[in-house]
Amino acid sequence: MLNIVFEADKIRQLKRLLEERERIVLLPHTSPDGDALGSVGAWAEVLKAIYPKKEICIVSPDDVEDYLVWLPLSEDFVSFYQKKDEALKLIKEADLILHLDHNQVKRIRYAELIDAVYQNTKAKRILIDHHEFPDKDFDLVFSYPELSSTCELSFILFKALAWDDEFVSPKASTLLLSGIVTDTGRFMYACFYPQIFQHLSELLALGADYPMIVDRLSYHNKEKQLRLQGYMLNEKMELYPELGTAILTLSQAEMQERGLSKGDTEGLVNLPLTIEGINSSCFIREDKSQIKLSLRSIGEFPVNQLAMRAFGGGGHVNAAGGEFQGSIDEAKNIYLYELKALLEQKNKIEVE
Ligand code: 5GP
Ligand code: MN
Repeated sequence: MLNIVFEADKIRQLKRLLEERERIVLLPHTSPDGDALGSVGAWAEVLKAIYPKKEICIVSPDDVEDYLVWLPLSEDFVSFYQKKDEALKLIKEADLILHLDHNQVKRIRYAELIDAVYQNTKAKRILIDHHEFPDKDFDLVFSYPELSSTCELSFILFKALAWDDEFVSPKASTLLLSGIVTDTGRFMYACFYPQIFQHLSELLALGADYPMIVDRLSYHNKEKQLRLQGYMLNEKMELYPELGTAILTLSQAEMQERGLSKGDTEGLVNLPLTIEGINSSCFIREDKSQIKLSLRSIGEFPVNQLAMRAFGGGGHVNAAGGEFQGSIDEAKNIYLYELKALLEQKNKIEVE
């Protein structure tokens, strides 16, 4: 059972800040996923319904990837990647910033954006997130790593603020449910507690369009994405049964040959986990200016520790990521080296 009880004083502080402040920016992490976009989108919807006169907008470090363009985000969405000046101006003029679905300011990636956040001394900064080890320098922190998603946490907060009956519209409910569905891999991980199904049921009752979410996530892949899966499984998957792991790699040349964008590789890392005896998986992608790693595991093996130690990244026990400057082969060797070290450490502890 999960029992999330917020301190009454923190809820009062949250409410007071939202009431007092006029220019509110909702900030997701870089390359925002369904949970990051769902949560900023839902907060935007709900806050606009309650405070129609305030300036409320989403400033995203990056654009919405193709695989998420169906999310019902409002037009007040500014991508730093597309509109640098406008995004920086909004951050500089904000008097309240909500950091959603990231635990560290560096997860917004771009130095100019990070500087703008820190240079703005008038804005109070609130963290609403479910990753372990949050930065310490927020004015108010709602950090619950035991929850499936930032969207679920946001819904629990809306309930605690008594906003769920009147202000969580069908659109906001759909955004929240989208984040829960994507972050749990459609209720397959990080969701083994009864309350999540209660929250699902409440969101459905509020009008969340679950059939649309299932449809968009299941039946709108591009042909090249499915062919990429075939290619990766046939030609690129390396298995290391003695370590119970698999590695998939994709170079920039392969991406360009196939006309792929980053979003087209979403989900590849999960495929090897369906093999008996494979309980961790690593996808290494060569981007234009760096190597990006996605790690997954089943069971207790903490890939976030590996991501942190080896690549200065982070995430959750079963889903994490990191970045690396160097070659694909170097990243692969570091991954294997750290995996061995962590497994040996774990075995030692089990023997003792
Ligand atoms: P994905 O593999 O889907 O990109 O990310 C899986 C999880 O790891 C997400 O919770 C995400 O926030 C986290 N994550 C991915 N990349 C990084 C990274 O470079 N740094 C940190 N700190 N976390 C990451
Ligand atoms: Mn999340």
